[in-house]
Amino acid sequence: MREEEQLAHDVYAASALLWTQQAIFANIADSEATHSAAVLTLLNRYSLPDPLAGLSTGQFATQSVQDLYDSLTATSAQSVIAALQVGAQIEEMDIRDITAQEAVVDNADILMVYDHLLRGSRNHLRAFYKVLTKLGASYTPQYITQAEFDAIVTSDLETGP
Ligand code: MN
Ligand code: MN
Repeated sequence: MREEEQLAHDVYAASALLWTQQAIFANIADSEATHSAAVLTLLNRYSLPDPLAGLSTGQFATQSVQDLYDSLTATSAQSVIAALQVGAQIEEMDIRDITAQEAVVDNADILMVYDHLLRGSRNHLRAFYKVLTKLGASYTPQYITQAEFDAIVTSDLETGP
């Protein structure tokens, strides 16, 4: 999750530099930076190694994450619509992966952080989809079901810690 939250940050930060007319990239990148830091806090609290230690922006120790980053930033560079669709795709992946992690974690401390990340991902998915719709673009979910996607994007933004 540390790498996944950082990947979201790094991809959106790259899009923010390219697509300056859409403030959504910088805004959500800020949120992802706090998510990545929240997971780092957990790693430190439980004396677990940080997979990002010593790495800079856009660098990942796990090859599959590095490949994903390279591919998603390449797609995001094609057009603002593609970058927004990549945003929705990353949020869908986060929702799938955090939900899977929550099913196997019993530590209340970690579950509280994951609930926070999940709420953020639902809000980010709503935000990316809203801008896509406004620009007349479509989006088909790939990592969560259409029903789950619809339930999220048709419900209100969630607030909370
Ligand atoms: Mn996040
Ligand atoms: Mn997010």
